[in-house]
Amino acid sequence: MKKLTRFQLRIIRGKTCPYCKGKTELIDSVKVYGRSYGMMYMCWGCKAYVGTHKGTKNALGRLANKELRKWKNRAHAEFDKLWEGKMGKRSKAYRWLSNKLKIPHIYTHIGMFGVKTCKRVVIEVKKKLNTFHIDCSCGDQRKLIYSRPEGFHYACNCGSSMWVPNQII
Ligand SMILES: [Zn+2]
Ligand SMILES: [Zn+2]
Repeated sequence: MKKLTRFQLRIIRGKTCPYCKGKTELIDSVKVYGRSYGMMYMCWGCKAYVGTHKGTKNALGRLANKELRKWKNRAHAEFDKLWEGKMGKRSKAYRWLSNKLKIPHIYTHIGMFGVKTCKRVVIEVKKKLNTFHIDCSCGDQRKLIYSRPEGFHYACNCGSSMWVPNQII
């Protein structure tokens, strides 16, 4: 893996907006939420923002617009199931994720990911937890057989199989 460029670093540190490439503004979150949860980096034009680590000006990752915020939440929700359940420790789950995504450990943080990588987190964790299934008309469940960037192939013990485009998950 190459070292990140200065520009990429500015993005994952919240200093540059990944959408318009403009400089972000450090504001108090009271301006967004009506009460203060600390500081945040904001791009007003893109309606994209990211919070900071408590009591610091250090961004939690890159700025996120509405779509990315949705995917970050989904990725977090899946990932939390992993370390709260099977893996026990959060750091262990992050190491697993880092290997899975082939992203260096220091950059393996959901807050640094774009939509595509968040989707991969959802998929990989679901696979790992084996919770990737769709109810079949026979009453059993179709299990995930393999996944591609474009979609997923499911099959059931009854012989029924199904192709699901990626947007559905
Ligand atoms: Zn912007
Ligand atoms: Zn079936």
